[in-house]
Amino acid sequence: MYRYGMGYGMFFDPTYILVILAAVIAMAASAYCRSVMSRYSRMRVSTGTTGQEAAERVLHAAGIYDVGIRQMGGRGISFYRYDKTVNLSDELFHQPSITAVATAAHECGHAMQHASGYVVNRAINLVNPVMQLSSNAAIPIFILGLILSFRPLQTLGIVLFCVVVAFQLLTLPSEFNASRRAVVMLQSTGIIQTEEEVRGVKKVLIAAALTYVAALASALLQLLRLIILAGGRNRD
Ligand SMILES: [Zn+2]
Repeated sequence: MYRYGMGYGMFFDPTYILVILAAVIAMAASAYCRSVMSRYSRMRVSTGTTGQEAAERVLHAAGIYDVGIRQMGGRGISFYRYDKTVNLSDELFHQPSITAVATAAHECGHAMQHASGYVVNRAINLVNPVMQLSSNAAIPIFILGLILSFRPLQTLGIVLFCVVVAFQLLTLPSEFNASRRAVVMLQSTGIIQTEEEVRGVKKVLIAAALTYVAALASALLQLLRLIILAGGRNRD
């Protein structure tokens, strides 16, 4: 039996492979996403619509006139904020590329969810403040529980980590839904017109969604590790 935090310490903790696996999955997904986004940032939309124009047209077509479209620094970053802003990094804002219109329309999909009171997003907002705290505190509390051999602390660490997993799980339907809305809106507004453009938009959105699936898989692997560590420790 290994002794956590003693002797060989964490170095020979065999469950550490799960942490490494989780990191590899997350890194692979984000590398894939970056490469797809960069490929389709070089594919020009035939209508010449920029990310900013796409966002405006999609929002207006959805009857939304109170959401601002903001330009920000960084590369390939976009998000919707609940202060009713779609935020696009410089090149997404200005480029008439598949990547730009796909991500802009996706964020508008979140704005449409917000406007329609989409129930999953309300659940996410409910979990969000607890999530921040849980993701910071779960592992330190759990490890302290192992070091002190104090089961309630271990259980608390696992419960807090479950909140993190629940949050990751909730983001999936919200992300898929926003992407579905994005494809429909880009087509119905005529921003994208060819088969090739539709395919490109879907590829970009799937690549982005994969990073959320990978985050969930990573979180599940880490949760599994905590459960194995707690089980092993308590059999000692
Ligand atoms: Zn999203």
